[in-house]
Amino acid sequence: MNTDIFKYDGQRKLSLGRLSTDSRNFDVVKNEALKMTAEYQEKIEIMQEKLYAEAKEGLIIIFQAMDAAGKDSTIKHVMSGINPQGVDVTSFKQPSHEELAHDFLWRIEQHIPRRGHIAIMNRSYYEDVLVVKVHDLQKGYKMPRRCIDMPASDFFHKRYKHIKNYEEYLNDNGYRLLKFFLNISFFKQKERFLQRIDTPDKNWKFSEADLKERKFWNEYQDAYESAVNHTATVSAPWYVVPADQKWFTRYIVSKIIFEELSRIDPQYPEISEAERQKLPEYRKELLRQSGGSLSS
Ligand code: AMP
Ligand code: MG
Repeated sequence: MNTDIFKYDGQRKLSLGRLSTDSRNFDVVKNEALKMTAEYQEKIEIMQEKLYAEAKEGLIIIFQAMDAAGKDSTIKHVMSGINPQGVDVTSFKQPSHEELAHDFLWRIEQHIPRRGHIAIMNRSYYEDVLVVKVHDLQKGYKMPRRCIDMPASDFFHKRYKHIKNYEEYLNDNGYRLLKFFLNISFFKQKERFLQRIDTPDKNWKFSEADLKERKFWNEYQDAYESAVNHTATVSAPWYVVPADQKWFTRYIVSKIIFEELSRIDPQYPEISEAERQKLPEYRKELLRQSGGSLSS
């Protein structure tokens, strides 16, 4: 399956209302997809080790979605097996007082990893043009009037511009970005919320806030559409992935991550010829030393 059908890099406009959230509209067999997902996971694991060893390029993966679209479980499954030393996962919640006292990218910058690492953002600075936009939160920010006294659309267009510039800045500093919007349907969200209510072990995942936010579904869809259309670029593309079936989401997300790592094509660092020539000597010396054996 060609993942380009999910890709938005500025060449075409996203119109969410026209997109399918359901895997049944794609020509993919579940068992095949499960097998491929496992294969991609293995390949991602190997390439991540090389990325880490090479320490030249960094990968930032952003997950955005409505509640219950499967951000957490997608992250858990796709990245399982990866060496935790080279991956940082950050969940961005409601900003603290400290965070709100700074520019909106401040809390993000602290989670940009060193090159060679993969950073996964469970929500991100995109919340600052999503939940903030839907609820006009900027109006309550303690900032000079010149920064907030303007039509909301001007305020958020400035933010789109800042985000685009920031992503270009990251790209120029050796990072690649993948931005996923897990696209769940209104109907499926209800089903998953009901499961959370009906399954005691899942009760903790549900909150009254989820119900409140669901009432703003259309506003969120508009905000997502606008955010994607204003920030999709070749070096920081969005992927809008159907999210009504978790196996399908995992399959597509793991394939896209695998493909991006393949483009990076990280390699283990080569040692110098002089060092290589010394290896047999090192080997002999180790074998001469007492203690231990090769088989232990
Ligand atoms: P959850 O990911 O379900 O634990 O919820 C985190 C909550 O924090 C979501 O409702 C987000 O919309 C909210 N959130 C994240 N970033 C921001 C932000 N910059 N401003 C306001 N709310 C935010
Ligand atoms: Mg939530």
